[in-house]
Amino acid sequence: MDDRIAPAGHELRAADLGIVRTDWTRAEVRALFALPFPDLIFRAQSVHRRHFDPTEVQISTLLSIKTGGCPEDCAYCPQSVHYDTGVKADKLMSVDAVRAEATAAKNAGAGRFCMGAAWREPKDRDLDKVCEMVAGVKALGLETCATLGMLTSEQARRLKAAGLDYYNHNLDTSPEHYGAIITTRTYQDRLDTLDHVRAAGIHVCCGGIVGMGESVEDRVGMIATLASLDPHPESVPINMLVRVAGTPLETSATIDPLDFVRTIAVARICMPKSTVRLSAGREDMREETQALCFLAGANSIFYGPKLLTTPNPDCDRDRALMDKLGLTPMS
Ligand code: SF4
Repeated sequence: MDDRIAPAGHELRAADLGIVRTDWTRAEVRALFALPFPDLIFRAQSVHRRHFDPTEVQISTLLSIKTGGCPEDCAYCPQSVHYDTGVKADKLMSVDAVRAEATAAKNAGAGRFCMGAAWREPKDRDLDKVCEMVAGVKALGLETCATLGMLTSEQARRLKAAGLDYYNHNLDTSPEHYGAIITTRTYQDRLDTLDHVRAAGIHVCCGGIVGMGESVEDRVGMIATLASLDPHPESVPINMLVRVAGTPLETSATIDPLDFVRTIAVARICMPKSTVRLSAGREDMREETQALCFLAGANSIFYGPKLLTTPNPDCDRDRALMDKLGLTPMS
């Protein structure tokens, strides 16, 4: 019997499904993006089932512990001081307030609690407080995650000692498109922080954003770069740009939802054992698109009405969607 699961010429066979590789070439990733949609989704779903229960979704909650006033110039971000978006700069939250938010997130069903601060990099005195927050959240029985900007290796070690499980630091886009999105730090800076996080023994959460005016080839470059990290990031958030008034990307053309689903599917195939998170952009996404994303191998979402400063579906809406699709929180 012919076990091809892709059109003739692609030479994709069932035996290749779900093997973890860090040597994906751009040509291979490009060929995945070019597959007919049914072949791509079938392949992604087959890979997904090899490593995960397809009815389980990992639930994370994200809290902004220090909002606004960031000196970086990420073109999508309402928290940058370079853009007039109406986001006001706040001080770092208190440890008690963060613990209270984490308790509420746990009671609402979250398994992981992510703390985000709008910094280029944390100052050591701020890190003392963040380490206390991490220890407090961990003591509640939640997985811990933080996103604080660039880290030195010493800072990464301190966070690990405090109980940090995951560190989020996205590559955002392809190396070629990066300069059109951020000028205040380099792609290599990001890779260096990821190295420090990995060396400290913290799991890596690293993904990107689509819908920022990038080409399909940039999406290929982004996934190929993520899939060349060795080991792969344990968590891969794929975000759909939320166009915020006042940012340079406020008038970016919207991405076709099926192209977004394709990006999820290619991420799933190239990083078979990673949790692929259907991340920002769900507020404006139809249920049918989200269902296709789950079918394409997404198995994580952010839960709660706000993602840092942008809206996210509220918990009731997500619970209703998960019930409708027969999905349950990952244990
Ligand atoms: S994405 Fe992060 S680093 Fe970039 S401007 Fe926003 S808060 Fe700062």
